Amino acid sequence: MKDLVELTTHCVHCGFCLESCPTFTTTRSEADSPRGRIYLIRSAEEGVLRWQEDVRPHLDRCLGCLACTTACPSGVDYSSILEIARDKLEEQKPRISKSMLLMGTTSPKILSTQLGLAKLLPGKKMPLVASIFFASAKPEADLPQVCGLNSSDKTREISPPQPTDANLRGEVYLLEGCAMRVLFPRVHWATRQLLSRLGFRVREVEQGCCGALHVHNGHVTDAKALAEKLIKQMPGSLPIIVNSAGCGSTMKAYDSLLSTPEANQFRDRVKDISEFLLEQGLIDLLKQSQGIDAEITYHDACHLAHGQKIKIEPRQLIQSVPNATYTELPESDMCCGSAGVYNVLQPQLARSLLDRKYGHIGETRANIVATGNPGCHAWIAQAAREHGQKVQVMHTVELLEASFSGVPFQ
Ligand code: SF4
Ligand code: SF4
Repeated sequence: MKDLVELTTHCVHCGFCLESCPTFTTTRSEADSPRGRIYLIRSAEEGVLRWQEDVRPHLDRCLGCLACTTACPSGVDYSSILEIARDKLEEQKPRISKSMLLMGTTSPKILSTQLGLAKLLPGKKMPLVASIFFASAKPEADLPQVCGLNSSDKTREISPPQPTDANLRGEVYLLEGCAMRVLFPRVHWATRQLLSRLGFRVREVEQGCCGALHVHNGHVTDAKALAEKLIKQMPGSLPIIVNSAGCGSTMKAYDSLLSTPEANQFRDRVKDISEFLLEQGLIDLLKQSQGIDAEITYHDACHLAHGQKIKIEPRQLIQSVPNATYTELPESDMCCGSAGVYNVLQPQLARSLLDRKYGHIGETRANIVATGNPGCHAWIAQAAREHGQKVQVMHTVELLEASFSGVPFQ
């Protein structure tokens, strides 16, 4: 593991990161800024401050959005600083409630059970784990509805056909993940459908959670075990396609998590779906699709924009959709407040960021907002539902697939 004090020495206290930080711009408290948190962590490591009492509240309020890493001219590795510091906090004083929350969110079986209960209680208060996405939402929150799980579109229950040998361009793995496969099977369906349409065969393998939520919440030992398992489950040299920004960001950092040659090689194969489509030069094919008559805007998922530095690719893809108009979203790369399990643990801050995000979406007058991460997707969709469903939230890949098929999305 990297040396925490050494990592903090790269911060020169310039403050260029402050206005990019959602918690600082909300609270205006230095202790809730990137610079302040780095200072607190270093002081605790040097024994000047107490980890649990002085530092923990401010690290709990950090979204882990990594906007500060984009803004920082000195290249401070805030992501590693935060991960190591949170791991230290959890090791010193584990929180059972947080462990249970992680287990419930990353276990497809537990999450499916929760969803089953939620379907039996539409419009009622969510059962324990399903409330993750709606901790600060209004009581009418309906997780299955928001995620489009009540859809009567039976075609999505059938795996899309694989491309024939004649139009085969290549073979890939697709990360199914944990929460993603339960909450957004429709996004996996659209990803498979689009890949197949463009000539890519998906190799089917048994696979589990990538460990993203664990690493972001100070459970690094669990994350390492999950990463080692996933690397074994996807051997060889095929590209690994990911349609969840948080997962992709973590998988691209497996090398620093594990420091093994296998992890280095694995990291280089991980591709966000938008990155992959651009790299494969498929934009001209997308331009030949039938198109969508819609006004579209785009919300940058933090772990795509800041974690993976992927901003141009989704925009280029969306702007290739015929008949659609595109409007840039103000503060598009400012966190929406979802941030994994943050909206359960910090509901007020999360809610205020969601309101800010939804206000900007309204300014664009778009009727579709595209994004690339399940947490943002569900969280913004909940706001749309509260505001009369004037805006539809879609994964970028759903939008592209709909541009070919003309199939309604939800
Ligand atoms: S990760 Fe996000 S919330 Fe945390 S310090 Fe950086 S910008 Fe602020
Ligand atoms: S921009 Fe970078 S160097 Fe400057 S205060 Fe923020 S983290 Fe430190």
